[in-house]
Amino acid sequence: MWRLPTIYSEELPAVDVLGIAAHPDDIELTCGGTLLKMAEKGYRTGALDLTQGEMGTRGTPELRMEEAQAAAQILRLKWRGNLALPDARLENSLPGRMTLAGEIRRLRPRVVIVPYWEGRHPDHYNASQLCYEACFLAGLAKLDDTLAPHRPHKILYASQYANVAPSFVVDVTREFDRRMDSLFAYQSQYGESDEGADLFPKQIEIRERLAAVARFYGNLIGVKYGEAFVIREAQAVEDVVQMGVRSL
Ligand SMILES: [Zn+2]
Repeated sequence: MWRLPTIYSEELPAVDVLGIAAHPDDIELTCGGTLLKMAEKGYRTGALDLTQGEMGTRGTPELRMEEAQAAAQILRLKWRGNLALPDARLENSLPGRMTLAGEIRRLRPRVVIVPYWEGRHPDHYNASQLCYEACFLAGLAKLDDTLAPHRPHKILYASQYANVAPSFVVDVTREFDRRMDSLFAYQSQYGESDEGADLFPKQIEIRERLAAVARFYGNLIGVKYGEAFVIREAQAVEDVVQMGVRSL
């Protein structure tokens, strides 16, 4: 089922984990390894991109949608959709919140992964707030919507590029190479073309940078590659003797 846009699709593809991000390829850059890992644990995973990245220098929205589906298959997503909100001027607007709340009700994710709430790109922090508020709205019984209320159990903020200490790190050592493959499925963005060659780094350079970031977070938990997340609530620990990650 790889139809786009799927906003008003008749299917009810409930997922366990839903990644939501501003641009196609943000998922691949920040939490693709975690989604792949969850898929391989048997969970149903999905991704919802809020914009089509139409303001990007390279490629066209149509091409990026095709690339997003190719990436989705590499990440073993059960579903991927796109809300086609305006790129580079993404707002936390009421129509945006209502549309996203409707999607959350339709997909009924137990966990959502959303962008961290601070960052350089306005679309990223606006997307973060939009996602948070849409999750809240989706849980309201009296929301003007035909679908049953649903509020995700957990909101994880993908904090890869925010200079903050993560609340936890997911070991993606086994998934890292395939996460890179999913990113390079966006040929129009990461292919070795001459168009804008002086503006865009080469694949090997991108791989090195992303490996360095993943290695940094992996180090924090004593593994090779990791993906970083922030959560707002404290986590409960039942048995302090069995806690993972050595202190010294
Ligand atoms: Zn982005």
